Amino acid sequence: MKELSKGQKLAKELAYEKKNYFSKAKQEELNNCFSFAEDYKKFLNNSKTEREACKFSVDLLKQNGFTEFQFGDKLKVGDKKYFVNRDKSVVAFRIGKNNLEEHGIKILGAHIDSPRIDLKQNPVYEQDGFCLFKTHYYGGIKKYQWATIPLALHGMVVLNDGKKVKIKIGEDENDPIFYISDLLPHLGTKQMSLKGNEIITGEQLNIIAGGMPYADEEVRSKIKLNVLNILNEKYGIKEEDFMSSELCAVPAYKAKDIGFDRAFIGAYGHDDKSCAYPALRAILDTKSNDTVMTILVDKEEIGSEGNTGMKSKVYEDLIDEIAEAFKCNKRKVRAKSRCLSADVTSCFDPTFPDVYEKFNSAKISCGVCINKFTGAGGKSGANDASAELMGEIRQIFAKANIVWQAAELGVVDLGGGGTIAKFVASLNIDTVDIGVPVISMHAPYELISKADLYTCYQAFCAFVK
Ligand code: MN
Ligand code: MN
Repeated sequence: MKELSKGQKLAKELAYEKKNYFSKAKQEELNNCFSFAEDYKKFLNNSKTEREACKFSVDLLKQNGFTEFQFGDKLKVGDKKYFVNRDKSVVAFRIGKNNLEEHGIKILGAHIDSPRIDLKQNPVYEQDGFCLFKTHYYGGIKKYQWATIPLALHGMVVLNDGKKVKIKIGEDENDPIFYISDLLPHLGTKQMSLKGNEIITGEQLNIIAGGMPYADEEVRSKIKLNVLNILNEKYGIKEEDFMSSELCAVPAYKAKDIGFDRAFIGAYGHDDKSCAYPALRAILDTKSNDTVMTILVDKEEIGSEGNTGMKSKVYEDLIDEIAEAFKCNKRKVRAKSRCLSADVTSCFDPTFPDVYEKFNSAKISCGVCINKFTGAGGKSGANDASAELMGEIRQIFAKANIVWQAAELGVVDLGGGGTIAKFVASLNIDTVDIGVPVISMHAPYELISKADLYTCYQAFCAFVK
């Protein structure tokens, strides 16, 4: 090999360059990366709503020897516990032997809700040969993307007598699916001149749910009655029961490999399952002397609100309860704790280069991405992690040979976004955002790289070890 010139040597020593994980990884590591992706796809296909992700996570935790914790339970070193919050969020933790006041808790926090189309509380109506459902979208979506795609209905209904009925229609090959219509281009001249957010309005996101009339000339709204009858026969539901229901229309697509070389995964809900699953696996697959916690929360997509979102007191209570169980000062424990706020970030898309600042954008397959800060405009609403914390994380990743990158969302003045980071940080916990870069975030079908998913998992393992 030709010897490097003086300048080449200097550049190698001083300059930083992003690396594509695939170009450096050995065959064995690639095999591990691809097999992790297979596990992840199973999680995705069974976790389209926060309730399903919570259930899947609890099952996996149980299989790995974790047992349920409730407030007031005793704790001892070595315990592996999980806490379920209203079936929509779950916190897993492992008690290490290290002193909590000195070492704090190492926390991985991700969210398990994803943008979707919720049914309204009085959804069912009949019009012009159709039975339709009125909806109210959940999270920041481009509404036009949700028309003319196969939709599945997931959720649960609380009946008059308090009984809970689970619903999941559209995932099995033999199930029917649901559909939101769009205008044909032949009549779309006016529509196509509208602004993007007006092409399909919120009130036009009506779901087609049936078209066969009930065979009785005496009744009106025969098609609606027929749908209600089917729902009643199958699930025991009456129209009034929709008022106490949570029904979500989600894309009926399965997770699939994308590309001839299968480098990428296409799926609904990479935001934020592509971070939630690595965070869950990291607590299952590692051992350490520290106390470790994985928080999988709900409601991030609508601002971390309510008692299942990150703003809820329940997560602080849990940390404090662990501190108190070992007679530690809870304030000291939180002050010493560290959190990786695990959420996806936007990935540089060569088809839309203008919205990215190329020096500070996450590049596909270049590894899990740290966002030192989030927010919009002048970092408004951001959690801005300290240089000290960044330094600490860098050292951990360097020691474990993690391929990672640092970036921000996009061009400064164009937009922005938030995560759960600032709510964790407000508990006096050092927190930084980290996650998998996503192409077409919040679309019904998003894309990530298997390299970024796997390095995310490796990074979380290194952090909690
Ligand atoms: Mn997210
Ligand atoms: Mn999101």
